[in-house]
Amino acid sequence: MRTDATTLSRPEIRPLDPALINKIAAGEVIERPSSVVKELVENSLDAGAKRVDVTLEVGGSQLIRVVDDGHGISREHLPLAIAPHATSKIATADDLFNIHTLGFRGEALASIGSVSQLSVRSRPADQLEAFEITVDGGAVSDPSACGAPVGTTVEIRNLFFNVPARRKFLRTPQTECGHVTEQIARLALAHPQTAFTLTHNGRSLRNLPPTADRRERIADFYGSELGECLIPLDRHERGLRIEGLIAPPSHSKATTKWQYLFLNGRHITDRRLTYAIREAFRGLVEHDRFPVVFLFLTADPHDFDANVHPTKIEVRWKDAGLVQSQVLAVLRETLLSRNLTPRLRTPCAPPADIGNRPSDPAAQLRAREALANYLKRVDPTQPRLTFRAHPFAKDRLRPSIIETLPSTPEDPGDSSAANFGDAPGEHGAIDSGYAGLSRDAAQLPHDGADQATLNDSNAADLDSANSSNGDGSGAFGSDAAGVTGATPNDEGEAAVPNAAAALSALAHAGGSDVMQLHNTYLVCQTEDGVLIIDQHALHERILYERFRERILRGPLESQGMLLPETFEASPAQREAATANADLLDRIGIEVTEYGPKLLAVQRFPTLLRNVSMKTFVSDLLDKLVDNAGQTSEETLIHAALDMMACKAAVKAGDPLSREEIYALLEQRHLTERSSNCPHGRPTTLELTTKDLERQFGRA
Ligand code: ADP
Ligand code: MG
Repeated sequence: MRTDATTLSRPEIRPLDPALINKIAAGEVIERPSSVVKELVENSLDAGAKRVDVTLEVGGSQLIRVVDDGHGISREHLPLAIAPHATSKIATADDLFNIHTLGFRGEALASIGSVSQLSVRSRPADQLEAFEITVDGGAVSDPSACGAPVGTTVEIRNLFFNVPARRKFLRTPQTECGHVTEQIARLALAHPQTAFTLTHNGRSLRNLPPTADRRERIADFYGSELGECLIPLDRHERGLRIEGLIAPPSHSKATTKWQYLFLNGRHITDRRLTYAIREAFRGLVEHDRFPVVFLFLTADPHDFDANVHPTKIEVRWKDAGLVQSQVLAVLRETLLSRNLTPRLRTPCAPPADIGNRPSDPAAQLRAREALANYLKRVDPTQPRLTFRAHPFAKDRLRPSIIETLPSTPEDPGDSSAANFGDAPGEHGAIDSGYAGLSRDAAQLPHDGADQATLNDSNAADLDSANSSNGDGSGAFGSDAAGVTGATPNDEGEAAVPNAAAALSALAHAGGSDVMQLHNTYLVCQTEDGVLIIDQHALHERILYERFRERILRGPLESQGMLLPETFEASPAQREAATANADLLDRIGIEVTEYGPKLLAVQRFPTLLRNVSMKTFVSDLLDKLVDNAGQTSEETLIHAALDMMACKAAVKAGDPLSREEIYALLEQRHLTERSSNCPHGRPTTLELTTKDLERQFGRA
């Protein structure tokens, strides 16, 4: 229904009263006490303060006081400081793209003054007298002389006293104080050289001495346990410096709150950089856990626009893709260069009082119990289980373990064809062909020519990760770099290269003894402690990396079935089989229609010999149905490889021969990210002799 325009009185347009303008502006920037603290402390830091003291009463709703020792404000400038759109930080439009301060909008003090009782007391270093100016809900006083030390003190009382809706919106003092603490973290972590204190209702909450070391500041804020475990990184490339401190994946958290991004001393949020962090830690933390990351970026102010958000929490990069790929690359390289085996937490370890938790407490508990049982059962009269180099009966090894074991060039490889003699029957494959393919599969990643191509493609991938548009498409291949790295030295053991390699790998670990417990865990001694390995998780990771490395070079080898294996499939599964034919082809699977209800598996990857074909294909199709249309092909491939690795890996409860154990341990050293299975659960826990000494009260 329309109203007749003539019956309506035309509304009058009038300029808003300046106090109202400020209130509207305040609505954007000042949401709660923590926003006030942010603006005031930013001003202190812009004024070069070496010390900032923040005091709150009743969560900041009654009082917020910020005292600094910065350059101060002279008497003549005090009225301008609290006036809207007045700033000492920029003068021209060009300055907007050359910002070296935290503030520049000239709005904060005016906004705050319009919704509170504000006083600014200040004394520049070259003046004997301090002056104070007050604002009461927008009404400004003249500056009056007062006594005060050099620097500036800003006090805000009764925030939102004249905006009842906002005041009502404030939460409990505890909650508001929590927000302020978080705000102080963001400011203090970016400015370690400035001392900070935070006091609430007379109680000191934080006392952070100045330091040149970011790690120390983090430790002062969050405790030394986190501080000590942080891995540093520092990279300066193409005008962007990336400094950072990242916690090992085992210190992941339940929220992204522990991922701090700073740009030129300002805390920012950035979706693409958060994505880069997630990508870099993919497979190292479980899907619902988030790594702890502190990244400090320094960029030329011309390379981004800081003026896109009222609170300046977001920026618009000139080349966001480049920044994203640079961050991804440095994080990834840092993680790859580290031993990420989580330490087993013993009861004597310092309490995890800052929200830390080992990434899989159940796994750790299982391992701890297994170790305890083992220690209970060890019979001191029994000879120690020390393995010496001896010729291995290689053909006794389980195909799924030996198959992925790198062969040295002089390894004839032929003998491995024989060990799979019993396998083909399972899938009804042509015997001779199967054996041949198996051998190929066993040799695949280790053929010299192939290796060169692989390395080339890695280099290209890394390159593309550096220069890509940052959509993460370079991600899939790049972290395969280095997979083919160290082949253990097998000097003098040419007759049994794999045995020698395995022993040499053990030597790499500094270990001599190894044993299997509960047919599930491998326990071995290292130079400075004990490793406890989850055999399934480790094998899963090894297979996953091998499959992934392998698939970079083209579709996986598959075996055509003489008698295709059929299974009943839902319409959705049949549709997924058709829609994803290319993807299935890449992983070596061919499925065809077989009558109105059935699907037939015509080809199946040779690497999955021991896996039930129809169950695997049916499960995979279900997964594809679940992900229909939402995920990129790379993600689907990841999911498929993940499933393949899980199905093909030895299981908990499978007894392993010594040779198999050695084969696994050797591959542990040749496999990237071997500290975690593809789902991010740890494969290995470490108990150091230091931990033991502490446990037994020796230390
Ligand atoms: P902006 O920080 O965007 O310039 P503000 O309203 O926060 O705007 O502050 C206005 C001006 O007041 C600043 O430009 C600065 O010159 C001065 N000022 C505010 N707080 C301080 C302080 N703690 N020490 C010295 N100068 C200050
Ligand atoms: Mg400011």
